[in-house]
Amino acid sequence: MTEAFIALGSNLGNREDEIIRAIREINSLRGTRVTGISRFYSNPPMGPQDQPDYLNGAVRAETSLDALQLLDLLQGIEKWHGRIKTRRWGERCIDLDIALFGNAVINEERLTVPHLGIEQRDFVLRPLLDIDPDLRLPSGEKVSDLLSELDQSSLTEVEFPQFSLE
Ligand code: AMP
Repeated sequence: MTEAFIALGSNLGNREDEIIRAIREINSLRGTRVTGISRFYSNPPMGPQDQPDYLNGAVRAETSLDALQLLDLLQGIEKWHGRIKTRRWGERCIDLDIALFGNAVINEERLTVPHLGIEQRDFVLRPLLDIDPDLRLPSGEKVSDLLSELDQSSLTEVEFPQFSLE
């Protein structure tokens, strides 16, 4: 089993519903269960600014899948949500990224783990830290140390409804 951290983002449609549905779908992937859920944050978009703010969070999942199998299934979830590619860094109803996959370092055409740019992204690191305050990257760097070097002023914690995984 591997402990994976999956970053979630949504800035189209009912963002809360999209995120809750995606978390339930992750929990029902074969060989996979969600073991931790972060707080949720509102955050201005990266790239084009003429799009709504993102709702960002993360989950921890125990999985018997390998990293590429997990990526395939997460991309399946994105498709079910009707995600249509518009433009680079453009709006999307759900974005699912493998932030960490155990201590794996993966540099394949379809998959880079830890997720590219993770060290500069407060909207990924902060939710990871919510789930595991002692979390480290495969490099050994503490997520809390990386986060303390970032300007987190644009990240706003939001009220998020209680929900079950079923
Ligand atoms: P995005 O538009 O951010 O959803 O990027 C999607 C593309 O990123 C897909 O083609 C994936 O194959 C690729 N990708 C590379 N590394 C990762 C990762 N760690 N998690 C999710 N997608 C990834």
